[in-house]
Amino acid sequence: MIVTKFGGTSMASAEQFRKVKSIIDENPARQVVVVSAAGKKNSSDIKITDLLYTLHTHLVYGVPYDDIWGMIAGRYLEIAKELELDCDIEADLKKIKNELGKNIDQNYLISRGEYLSAKLMSAYLGFDFVDSKDLIRFTYSGAVDIERSEQNTKKAFSRRGKIVVPGFYGAYPNGEICLFSRGGSDITGSYLARFLNARVYENWTDVPGTLTADPRIVDNPKTISQITYTELRELSYMGANVLHEDSITPVQEKNISINIRNTNEPSCPGTIIKRECNDDSSVITGISGKKDFVSFDILKDHMSTEIGFTRRVLEIFEDYKINVEHIPTGIDSVSVIVSGTSVGSNMYDIVARIESELGARVNAKKELALIAIVGRNMVGKSGICAKVFASLSAVGINIKMIAQPPDETNIIVGVDNSNYKKAIRALYEDFEKANWI
Ligand code: ASP
Repeated sequence: MIVTKFGGTSMASAEQFRKVKSIIDENPARQVVVVSAAGKKNSSDIKITDLLYTLHTHLVYGVPYDDIWGMIAGRYLEIAKELELDCDIEADLKKIKNELGKNIDQNYLISRGEYLSAKLMSAYLGFDFVDSKDLIRFTYSGAVDIERSEQNTKKAFSRRGKIVVPGFYGAYPNGEICLFSRGGSDITGSYLARFLNARVYENWTDVPGTLTADPRIVDNPKTISQITYTELRELSYMGANVLHEDSITPVQEKNISINIRNTNEPSCPGTIIKRECNDDSSVITGISGKKDFVSFDILKDHMSTEIGFTRRVLEIFEDYKINVEHIPTGIDSVSVIVSGTSVGSNMYDIVARIESELGARVNAKKELALIAIVGRNMVGKSGICAKVFASLSAVGINIKMIAQPPDETNIIVGVDNSNYKKAIRALYEDFEKANWI
């Protein structure tokens, strides 16, 4: 069997619902359908989840909310009407509306976007609706209770067969709603694929697949046909965002492939994500990156002989619950690179602590961008760094940091924020010329 997940744009209108139905009807193995809340119909539209967040803010501040509620309800009513659905969506909407004034739980309210989408889709496909609060169970610390969720899912599937499940949420042990992070319907689909041992997890979206670079930076980047879980995690971690980063591990552990597909072009094969790929037609799988890192450059004479120095530095970052991204070292110097958002307003406190507790000099530099060049076929191949350096030097970009993990599937370079886009374009162009990407 196949678990499918349809994102917000696939749920945005009656026309998109029709496309989803024809995809599901085309293959009877597509027995489980996970849906997002209705997304944007066009670029000026607002996603239902965003409207629900705004609605909640209005409720908290006691501001009139009828217009926003009208927009939310209107979207679902319009789809139901156009598809002539035989389901009482009006009753569901009425129930939610009645609850609005009564100190409504925020997670519950936000989750209603997915809930209503699933109600409509189940009626349209003729599949059973199963509420994800009865499938995905969380512990009070917010982790998925795998054992319990697996039991629930297997039971519901064997009892009902073909089902539609809202993505994005589950429930705490007391039944209250718990949300995944934004974009989390991908994670719901991944868990269901894992629990039901799906042949493949199909993630239907509005792009042809995972792209070799950010299309806002590079014109017409190619679509990646095959990519390993590790490569995708590296690209997603560094900013590529076709799939929620946390949706990879649940299926990866069971070796279930993910297939990214485009609802608007169902005949395209999309991108396959799996443990091992045999396609070696390109050296570089993709390029991604992020801006706004901070580099704490730490200098101290004879640091190299001071055992425990790096540990003591890292403990300071741990105290602030800051995730350390990279630690390039010299002989008597070390840099600690972290994301700017995680540092927030603590930058000067951290500098002061390192200086006073370790007797070192610290220079904290902001506005560092990191670019990841990812590719399983780079492993053991000479000349990759040579090309990266040549490309960047040809356009006058200074490299501020270099890192390569031990498995050689990734080369990370740090450049000034201001050079970020220029660097990605230069690299992409040169890789393309060499037929490497
Ligand atoms: N609707 C939620 C969001 O916009 C979850 C999702 O679509 O995956 O983040």
